[in-house]
Amino acid sequence: AAQVIELLMFAGEVIENVVIIGSGPAGYTAAIYAARANLKPVVFEGYQMGGVPGGQLMTTTEVENFPGFPEGITGPDLMENMRKQAERWGAELYPEDVESLSVGTAPFTVQSSERKVKCHSIIYATGATAKRLRLPREEEFWSRGISACAICDGASPLFKGQVLAVVGGGDTATEEALYLTKYAGHVHLLVRRDQLRASKAMQDRLNNNPNITVHYNTETVDVLSNTKGQMSGLLLRRVDTGEETELEAKGLFYGIGHSPNSQLLEGQVELDSSGYVLVREGTSNTSVEGVFAAGDVQDHEWRQAVTAAGSGCIAALSAERYLTSNN
Ligand code: FAD
Repeated sequence: AAQVIELLMFAGEVIENVVIIGSGPAGYTAAIYAARANLKPVVFEGYQMGGVPGGQLMTTTEVENFPGFPEGITGPDLMENMRKQAERWGAELYPEDVESLSVGTAPFTVQSSERKVKCHSIIYATGATAKRLRLPREEEFWSRGISACAICDGASPLFKGQVLAVVGGGDTATEEALYLTKYAGHVHLLVRRDQLRASKAMQDRLNNNPNITVHYNTETVDVLSNTKGQMSGLLLRRVDTGEETELEAKGLFYGIGHSPNSQLLEGQVELDSSGYVLVREGTSNTSVEGVFAAGDVQDHEWRQAVTAAGSGCIAALSAERYLTSNN
């Protein structure tokens, strides 16, 4: 049963139970659970993704793997549904970026351009950003040939049976290339260096797959299109000789890593060497009691909407438990 935890007054100021930072699947799911537990969550939705709340899925078209939508659903519709559900249960939503926060001593402080909020707990769900190559025609072909997620987009009719390319030389790129061979006609892996950084096991899998060609010392210069404006290939450059060549490809997948949006927590909670928030295994607990992390900002491995939503649920239930045991 939902437990009512009243807002406490501290030196005449309101101290919120929980502030949620981020409006992706993790943030909104945390908001739904926290609101249903009568915690009256305050959500800073952020406006970094093109000036709208909703996180990474606002930049995609069809989401085909979120359970409950047998025919798929567009990313923006899915996020709008989550937002409405959080609002319906009483989450207070502010479309602002958090600019700073302090978790040194309780109560914590969260500051946006519009307001300063004190709170007993924080759920940090600011996501991650796929690194991009910044090709001259990248914006034109983003989600129309260029993708940063093979699992999300590999089965799309746009790519089925086609020749595709993956950029990167680490485990992520190798895994994307191997995954894409399930659907693609052929996959080219474009590696800037003269060798792969991927683990030996991944390299063995790659070498044993006849549907992948690895191009070393190869830089991707730009996307090429046909007369209909569709992606038709790539302009490549040899790093060692400078020679430029064209490669036929109907899709380009980035496997060059993600940057977790954890800047606000730097020096305040423990992060790993790549900047992901460290949580105790199987939990959303960070190194600071009362500060929880959910979604891609703490997950360098799975990075899916459903796993982000699941961890948002865990974070909200953990915050509720924390607040109950501290009041
Ligand atoms: P995000 O969705 O990244 O949201 C983070 C939120 O935090 C954003 O709203 C941002 O504005 C906000 N924020 C950041 N900094 C601040 C701040 N300082 N103050 C306030 N707010 C802040 N996954 C699937 O499962 N299926 C798919 O089909 C699929 N397709 C994808 C297609 C694309 C093009 C991309 C990029 C990703 C796709 N993904 C897909 C992955 C999926 O989108 C992510 O795993 C998921 O969105 C992560 O959710 P999140 O809540 O952790 O973070």
